[in-house]
Amino acid sequence: MSAANNYSIMVHGGAGALDNVKDDKTAFRYLESIRQVLEHGRNVITLGGSALQAVEACASLLEDDPVFNAGCGSVLNEDGKVEMDAAIMDGRDLSAGAVAAVDNIANPVQLARLVMSKSEHVMLISEGAMRFAEHCGMSRVPEDYFYTPDRIEQLHQARLQHKIMLDHDDTEEDTEDQKYGTIGAIALDPAGNLAAATSTGGIVNKRMGRVGDSPIVGAGVYADNETCAVSATGFGEDFMRSVISKTISDFIWMKEMNARQATDAGIDYLVRKVNGRGGVIVIDKAGNCASGFSTKKMIHGWIEKGGESVCRF
Ligand code: ASP
Repeated sequence: MSAANNYSIMVHGGAGALDNVKDDKTAFRYLESIRQVLEHGRNVITLGGSALQAVEACASLLEDDPVFNAGCGSVLNEDGKVEMDAAIMDGRDLSAGAVAAVDNIANPVQLARLVMSKSEHVMLISEGAMRFAEHCGMSRVPEDYFYTPDRIEQLHQARLQHKIMLDHDDTEEDTEDQKYGTIGAIALDPAGNLAAATSTGGIVNKRMGRVGDSPIVGAGVYADNETCAVSATGFGEDFMRSVISKTISDFIWMKEMNARQATDAGIDYLVRKVNGRGGVIVIDKAGNCASGFSTKKMIHGWIEKGGESVCRF
């Protein structure tokens, strides 16, 4: 890579069947959002920002877009409430910050960054995380910031299906209709630093207090300058059990794979071991970008080695 193109950025906006993307207008809406976020990340890096700054900026923009399941577009839990999870990781020294089950925060990824830089901990949850947000001077947003008519209708439908699922068998698999719309951003900067961020509202109609993979280092997020940066989206329990992000990093470290090979091996492992549903984006330390998913689709895009932005499902 020459000095001008020695950076890469990838973002995702969730995996699933994406059956709601039925027409060109909706598809354009998603892809255009992803493209703009990528170009914003490019600006951050070409103006001298770090990979960490780029992923925080990209994830924040995605949290601000209501079509994604994070920040203002977060899905609702069984009580009709928002409980968000987020994490950020710096590949320079494996420092990480995470928050789980937080509400009334517009940008949980920014709170995760504060946990990383201003606390002695890696993860804060629920009330403790909110107290820390207050301590840091982070303002709260009102509840109606999150409640879009779409999310209320989605919860209504999920509740109806939940009753049907319970009537049948509680091990019944989720259908592919479900969209796991978590967001994620990963980047490599010209100094060779990798970073990753993931943020989510979780899964529709989830139990109160349920925490998914997104804020768990090694499951929904991982970055190590010696291997790669990873962000995952999908059925969080599958990713926690397979520790998918660290597994992909280990494939690179121990088997000397590149991003493409490690992503394929990771998705194969996810499906083989836990029948996992979802996908990952991966940038290796050489700046190669790769994505893989076991669902029908995943909204994602990338700028590889300073090239054109590419966005797809
Ligand atoms: N992985 C997230 C979770 O399980 C959901 C998603 O990716 O949309 O909380």
